[in-house]
Amino acid sequence: MQTSRNSESEQANPLEVNQEYIQSVSQLTADDVERVKGRKPKSLGIRCGRSDCKRDLHCFDPSGSRLTFTKGRCQSCGIDLIDWDVVHVRDLRNIDAKFDFFKKEWIRHFFFHVPITNRIESYARRNGFEGLAQILDKQLRQDKMLRFIKEFDWNQTKMLNGTIVHWARHATASCCRACMKYWHNIPFEQQLTAEDINYLKALAMRYVTLRIPDLEILQQSRVAKAQSQSAV
Ligand SMILES: [Zn+2]
Ligand SMILES: [Zn+2]
Repeated sequence: MQTSRNSESEQANPLEVNQEYIQSVSQLTADDVERVKGRKPKSLGIRCGRSDCKRDLHCFDPSGSRLTFTKGRCQSCGIDLIDWDVVHVRDLRNIDAKFDFFKKEWIRHFFFHVPITNRIESYARRNGFEGLAQILDKQLRQDKMLRFIKEFDWNQTKMLNGTIVHWARHATASCCRACMKYWHNIPFEQQLTAEDINYLKALAMRYVTLRIPDLEILQQSRVAKAQSQSAV
């Protein structure tokens, strides 16, 4: 297998067997995901700082060594697309609007659209909606998430080779403290509070429901069944 050195500015090509650089998530199949999941995300082009502004996929991360454009704008093209006042309110109002904003960023758009493979789906079904919520809770309560620890931040959350929980965290910007800082306005100095965790969890679980819609319904019917049995 040969690693492609294509730059982002090159024309989009379908993902070919000998070409691992992902031009666009829309060309990626579930088989592709499983085939390349063990490769370094960067060699596939999956990285936080990526943008493809011509396709309206930007990068709003202001943490580069110096800002190219005013904070809050795309740091590649300067477009001002995000209503940060809406995004930064950490409650579940406007969740659809927030998801639309997340999808304006290349990396998050990628995880909203990456095909769900059999491996990802069977993990989700094995754990169920409630089980996934518990796994998510545990991940967010790790010390390296509760506090900002520079050495552990950035590349700490698995990408294609992760689970739907990891994918949900990338999509909804709870993958690392750096993303939480600019998307959720949680400063590095602040330890995550129980409210922060509940909020980030709710966003991520909403993503799970979007990607595998019947998981939450199955959970609800299981709970309803258990309640009716205990009522007898
Ligand atoms: Zn842009
Ligand atoms: Zn991140």
